[in-house]
Amino acid sequence: MNLCMEMRKSDRKMLIEACILLFAKELKIDKNDFTLIVFSCKDIVKEHSANGMASPIINKVYSMVLSSRIDCEKLIEVVAHEMVHIKQFVKGQLQRKGRQTFWMGKRYVRSKVNYYDHPWEHDAWSKEKFLSAKIYKILSKENEKFERSQRKS
Ligand SMILES: [Zn+2]
Repeated sequence: MNLCMEMRKSDRKMLIEACILLFAKELKIDKNDFTLIVFSCKDIVKEHSANGMASPIINKVYSMVLSSRIDCEKLIEVVAHEMVHIKQFVKGQLQRKGRQTFWMGKRYVRSKVNYYDHPWEHDAWSKEKFLSAKIYKILSKENEKFERSQRKS
């Protein structure tokens, strides 16, 4: 995975980058040959009624757009969710050809199927919890370490 972070330097950028690298490893796509370009955007919520979006751009190049208006906790979940979609694209489980969407080789007309019934969304929802839990686990361990060091001094 080749990661391009198209946003200004900040703690938020570092958090996003760390989450993506960990999730790519968990989803076993970190060694795959593709490029992921990550953008931050203020108005994604208004335009797409979502906090994040993952899309294929050209062959082996994908984009992830993240809302800049959500807090860190939500951000971790959204990155996890969108990374599952990136995994689906990279592994060829989810394919977009023009207006058509293919899931595991089966064609879906997106407008005819309710968003909540899309099988690729079910996959993303079930895995986003597990992935974000990994981050919370690391953070709480770090927090424990920090508190222990505070008590010593
Ligand atoms: Zn989704």
